[in-house]
Amino acid sequence: MIYSSDLNKNLASQIIEAGTPIPGDDVVSSLKACYQCGTCTGSCPSGRRTSYRTRKVIRKALLGMDDVLDSDDIWKCTTCYTCYERCPRDVKVTEIIKTIRNLAAQKGNMAKAHKMTAMYVLKYGHAVPANKNTAELRKSIGLSEKAPIAQFSEKDLNEMNTLIKELGFDELIGFDWEKGALKE
Ligand code: SF4
Ligand code: SF4
Repeated sequence: MIYSSDLNKNLASQIIEAGTPIPGDDVVSSLKACYQCGTCTGSCPSGRRTSYRTRKVIRKALLGMDDVLDSDDIWKCTTCYTCYERCPRDVKVTEIIKTIRNLAAQKGNMAKAHKMTAMYVLKYGHAVPANKNTAELRKSIGLSEKAPIAQFSEKDLNEMNTLIKELGFDELIGFDWEKGALKE
């Protein structure tokens, strides 16, 4: 756990840099405007059912407590954007949580459920692949059973997998190409 002011600044800066693709973009730097009112936690549907506390994550990020990057809680946000809409300080909370997750994933902390979703993208080209029910529904309204999507195009899937390997996304989620499944 890191508490020193220099390192605190580093974590907040890391989050801001990682989440700011355009110079001057204030989406993630809005982190600094948080005054800890707790409206985000009070609005969070996930926090009602889990140990996840949005305000605490934002506070830890501001204080540079980098154990937030090892936390399971950051993966419990459903990205519903309620906190984002309700924050009285216009802190872009959901974008900040996503940026923290990106940093956490680079450190090797990614929730299994998110790895599974990423694996679907890798294997089928979609986080929610079409299935038997989808095929039946399409057929019932006179459409072909298979939609013209990446899932049913070897060429598109090959192109996607080339990009995925080039970017190291397969390694990030721990995908084993031989088994066609996640390692572990
Ligand atoms: S609602 Fe906004 S200002 Fe209030 S604690 Fe959450 S992020 Fe901070
Ligand atoms: S976006 Fe995430 S943190 Fe914000 S209210 Fe929804 S679940 Fe909670």
